[in-house]
Amino acid sequence: MNSFLNRINKQKLPISYLLITLIFIFFGIFTTKGLYGLGNITREIYEHPLVVSNASLEVTKMHRSLNDAALANSSAEMEFSLNAVTQSEQNVYQQLDIIRENILGEEGRTLEKQTRQLFDDWKPRRENVVRLLKSGNKKEAIAVIKENGAAYIDKHELGMLALTLYARKKADGFIAHAIIMQSELEKITLFLSIGGVFISLIIAFTAVRLVANAEKVILEASKQLNEMALQDGLTKIANRRNFDKKLQEEWRRMMRRKEPLSLIFFDVDHFKLYNDNYGHQAGDVCLQTIANTAAQLFKRPGDLFARYGGEEFIAILTNTNLEGATTLAEELRRNVYEAEIDHDTSPVCKFVTISCGVSSVIPDESKSDQVLLKIADEALYEAKEQGRNKIVSRNIN
Ligand code: GH3
Ligand code: MG
Ligand code: MG
Repeated sequence: MNSFLNRINKQKLPISYLLITLIFIFFGIFTTKGLYGLGNITREIYEHPLVVSNASLEVTKMHRSLNDAALANSSAEMEFSLNAVTQSEQNVYQQLDIIRENILGEEGRTLEKQTRQLFDDWKPRRENVVRLLKSGNKKEAIAVIKENGAAYIDKHELGMLALTLYARKKADGFIAHAIIMQSELEKITLFLSIGGVFISLIIAFTAVRLVANAEKVILEASKQLNEMALQDGLTKIANRRNFDKKLQEEWRRMMRRKEPLSLIFFDVDHFKLYNDNYGHQAGDVCLQTIANTAAQLFKRPGDLFARYGGEEFIAILTNTNLEGATTLAEELRRNVYEAEIDHDTSPVCKFVTISCGVSSVIPDESKSDQVLLKIADEALYEAKEQGRNKIVSRNIN
């Protein structure tokens, strides 16, 4: 699933949507066409036998109208019936035309031709009857009708019956075809529905995964940015900004708790000389070593160890009094010394050393965190004055 997700990546997702939409449109058109075809077939099924039976009905009607004309009591009545004969004749031809156009297959065409032929053959006799009637020979006309008409009607009915049976057979074929088509359409519709649901699920799942991944990347990036904003680039410990923020926070917290807050402010001794002797790059490595060494000591949850600037570092120690902070500073001074980083040109000793200023206070409203910092700085200055590689501690309260 994961490799599948990777393949459908952000760029490919819109293309996938487009492809799926096109497939659905294609199947949609296919299905609609199928349904349209099904409708046509159904219409044909109903039309064929109907047209045939209409034609059959018209033939019978025409024969009756001819009889009515012969038995008419007035010339107006006769004229009316003869018009009906003409009308029925036109209707029969019209129906036969429809049958010819609609009924497919050789057999159907032959049957239609035979029926039409029969109707054509009857035509001169019909015209003869009309002529006889119009010239007043009623008796003769009736005789001709009796002699020929009934026989033609019988023959016609047989022909029409054959056509009807043929149309039924065709309709049965159409129905069978329609049933197959319907079941195919049902399958396609089912496939489309299941496919649609499945594809939608995949797309939704992919989108959710992409969003979740993006969120993870964004969170990670923002975390890194935050860290970078609070971290010193060279030593990877807290930077000055981080220190300022933390000092304010801890000042207020210790004030609420009435607990001591201490600072260890330290500076590398004769670092200018170190740079001059070993070069700036070696100086950077030296600062990293000192930062790592010192970082080991400030591990308590409330502690913060930061690079204050240049070769100056500072540690915030919460719930720690002057005595505790001084002990820690002493340990720190010794650890740096025992790291034995060569410093040939130092007037203090042959290794790199540091000087520390320690300050401590139980914060209260009458003072500020800046006083604590100032006192630590002064203590550091004094440690330098006293010859470096020294610690000077000052309690404020
Ligand atoms: P002191 O014992 O009085 O502190 O003498 P110092 O030479 O250490 O003091 P000074 O302030 O005169 O010199 C500090 C030197 O630290 C100067 C500067 O080049 C060096 N320095 C400050 N930041 C860096 C840094 O990031 N990398 C390196 N390599 N050197 C730095
Ligand atoms: Mg300095
Ligand atoms: Mg220095």
